[in-house]
Amino acid sequence: MRLTLIGHMAVRIEMDGVTLLTDPWFGPHTWLERRLAPRTLPPALPSTALAVDALLVSHDHLDHLDEEALALARRLGCVVIGSQKAARRACRAGVRTVIPLRAGEETTLGPLTVRAVSADHPLAADAVGFVIIGRQSLYFSGDTRCTPALRADLAPVALDVALVQAACAHYPFLGDDGMSLAEAAALARAVRPRWTVPLHLHCAGKWLDRAAGIRIQMDNLDQVQTTLANWAAALRAEGLGVWLPEPGQPWEMEGNTKTPTYSQHENRH
Ligand SMILES: [Zn+2]
Repeated sequence: MRLTLIGHMAVRIEMDGVTLLTDPWFGPHTWLERRLAPRTLPPALPSTALAVDALLVSHDHLDHLDEEALALARRLGCVVIGSQKAARRACRAGVRTVIPLRAGEETTLGPLTVRAVSADHPLAADAVGFVIIGRQSLYFSGDTRCTPALRADLAPVALDVALVQAACAHYPFLGDDGMSLAEAAALARAVRPRWTVPLHLHCAGKWLDRAAGIRIQMDNLDQVQTTLANWAAALRAEGLGVWLPEPGQPWEMEGNTKTPTYSQHENRH
């Protein structure tokens, strides 16, 4: 498979001849969106440069789905697979083929199976994650805490790649509303994908490490990168593969869980 980070949680996935785009966010476009979801880096590719067969939408929040993405789906006639609310919004926006999924339900996309798995995101009760299975396999977390239900959903799948939320909001009464770096590492250790890829890193205000006081801000890219590099080094030292994506730079993920490649071995050391 080939993966390209567009930004935040939007990743173009090319697998077995099918192209998908996860949680497509090209904004913010309005003053209110800019206030609620200030973006630290513009998308690496504009929506007009993307040709995709399907959008996969974990939940209907500002930084995971926007009108520009729905316009892309209408223009290309692509399928929108999403949580209940995301699917309803896509229908209202005039997208022709919409497939709502609850955790445990699945659909097919050409040779691929797309299965929704559980997510625990208190501010979006219908949120799901996705597992895509073709010749290789991939998990996309959306926004979720690392719960026993999620680990149970992922346990039967030998994952090549896990795209995981690695910075989250924090609220006084709710606590962490998703995974920060420590929870993302806990999920990687529990599930042991060949490659773990941290995402959700381009919206200011999200916490990477609350204990250390490190959060995403408009002007601390160096600190974020150093923090991520240290996090990746610790996981690699435990034998886990980590890819730190550069927006816009495609990555060819070769082999699968049954036939690990030499480069995989090299990258782990
Ligand atoms: Zn989010």
